[in-house]
Amino acid sequence: MSKNFFFKLKISENKARRGEVITAHGAIQTPAFMPVGTAATVKAMKISDVKKSGAEIILGNTYHLMLRPTAELIEQLGGLHKFSGWQGPILTDSGGFQVMSLSKIRKISDEGVEFSSHIDGAKHFVTPEKSIEIQYKLGSDITMIFDECVQFPATYDQAKQAMERSLLWAARSKSAFQKRAGYGIFGIVQGSTFPDLRKVSSEKLVEIGFDGYAIGGLAVGEGQEVMFEVLDYSVEFLPEDKPRYLMGVGKPSDIVGAVLRGIDMFDCVIPTRSGRTGQAFVRSGTINIRNAKYRDDPNPLDKKCVCYACQNHSRAYLHHLVKANEILGSMLLSEHNIFYYQDLMKEIREAIEEKKFGEFAQKFPQNETLA
Ligand SMILES: [Zn+2]
Repeated sequence: MSKNFFFKLKISENKARRGEVITAHGAIQTPAFMPVGTAATVKAMKISDVKKSGAEIILGNTYHLMLRPTAELIEQLGGLHKFSGWQGPILTDSGGFQVMSLSKIRKISDEGVEFSSHIDGAKHFVTPEKSIEIQYKLGSDITMIFDECVQFPATYDQAKQAMERSLLWAARSKSAFQKRAGYGIFGIVQGSTFPDLRKVSSEKLVEIGFDGYAIGGLAVGEGQEVMFEVLDYSVEFLPEDKPRYLMGVGKPSDIVGAVLRGIDMFDCVIPTRSGRTGQAFVRSGTINIRNAKYRDDPNPLDKKCVCYACQNHSRAYLHHLVKANEILGSMLLSEHNIFYYQDLMKEIREAIEEKKFGEFAQKFPQNETLA
């Protein structure tokens, strides 16, 4: 008999929380960072290396997978865990964000969204019910509700309208969700940068009742300072006994600042995307390995890192691979960055356990720039 989906809050230090999420495919220690496996792969990484990094949960994208290879095919082949080879917990997003940002929208109504695929232009219609059904077919441990995301900046009226429609869709998503032991569904708070909208969105979602709550509509260009302001008041509206997930975040300093404000879960393409462009995250900040100063540098990327790249290769070798456009350069840097992020989460969890996270956050390098 599999266990029910639940969140256990172990220790807190002010607003920062150290917890555990139990799912059908295992436990997740929080605060947790989820590597993004958009198309059933964490780009340029083998699943065995993702696991070795310490990651306990990965993310899959409904939008990408429904278009290619299709949810039906993945279901036929035994679900996303079997198809991708990842046996741990999987969270799938609902497709809402990608439909709005990647596809050509034809029509949005209360019923759903009609759009053209960015791959072949084929017409699709996604409703909350359809999104939940796709995530069921994929077999995700954590299903996300289908929501409407507004761009930043949005006017108050745009943000209000999208938030209200998202609430209608949240109730329909919950009704369409088939309850199974160990599987959960999360609501997504919308409302852009408007405190009263965030409050209404949170309260109504809590009334509907979800296994966890995500804060959506951030990391869309508002900047770290505004994001932290929104978190400062938004987290207050959410229940203590459910996990809180900040979608699409972020840089290491964003994560540290959000944990300080009470967030438990994160996902972001930054570590893998940066890896493919030659940027590495290291304990002293960020380095761009393309820089000429690394041409003859015999040191590893980060002396404290236990990833394969740092154990076996010099910065000079990585510089050479990236300059020569060798595919191994992307692989090694992506792997290093995912290891770095998982090490950071481990250090954050240990600091909260020792009630030293406030100190840790204060010393952490602020608002690093991306290459
Ligand atoms: Zn490394």
